[in-house]
Amino acid sequence: MLIHTHCHLADPAYDADRPAVLERAWRGGVTHVVCIGESPQASDRALALAEAERRLSTTAGVHPHDASQWSPDLAAWLGERLRHPRVVAAGEMGLDYHYDHSPRDRQRAAFTAQLALAREAGKPAVIHAREADEDVAAILTDHPDVTVVLHSFSSGPALLRAGLVLGQYVSFSGMVTFRNWRLDQAILDTPLDRLLLETDGPYLAPVPHRGTRNEPLYVRHVAERVAGVRGLPVEELVAATAANAARVFRLQPLTPESRT
Ligand SMILES: [Zn+2]
Repeated sequence: MLIHTHCHLADPAYDADRPAVLERAWRGGVTHVVCIGESPQASDRALALAEAERRLSTTAGVHPHDASQWSPDLAAWLGERLRHPRVVAAGEMGLDYHYDHSPRDRQRAAFTAQLALAREAGKPAVIHAREADEDVAAILTDHPDVTVVLHSFSSGPALLRAGLVLGQYVSFSGMVTFRNWRLDQAILDTPLDRLLLETDGPYLAPVPHRGTRNEPLYVRHVAERVAGVRGLPVEELVAATAANAARVFRLQPLTPESRT
């Protein structure tokens, strides 16, 4: 079991060879991939993929970059989409004060509205946080009853602590293999039963694939690096993170017959 919790598999970057990308992942031991639907368009594509392949599930939400588009129509869309059984989480959502593609007040409004919809649907939320630790921590603290995944974690200790106090999950990406990665302490401070693994493909390809398109197979490099930091055998880390992913996203165990 190697569960990959965050890949933008619906991204056009995979249009030319998506079946081959997935085949490489399955052969490499990946057993499930959560495809992120970070916009209505991406969510439609990701849901179509998940409906055709039992080893995929999907999310639906509005990325902070697009938060200025948040509207009552989008809220109605998301509320309904989150009721779909193959949509296992809301997001990705959050705050990005590095790029500021949407005004910060609009980002906060879209983020809090989506957390409320996640709570209503009884589903977890996948969080993107960049240079906005304080506001993300404050908003999460205001929504203690939503289980969240801090995705591609690269934030400071205050957000990690706030998240862990609230019982959240922390997902590490290929960034942990980068030469300028300085957050091994966050890997150590996250309890083993809260750790998740991802690639965030097509972005952030891990070493030794840096500079190329990222793909789900490469989650293996993330697993190896995180296991090394924790001083655990890779397979033990992989098994623990798979159990965590199955728990937080309520993934159904696959029987041999259900594999398509
Ligand atoms: Zn992402």
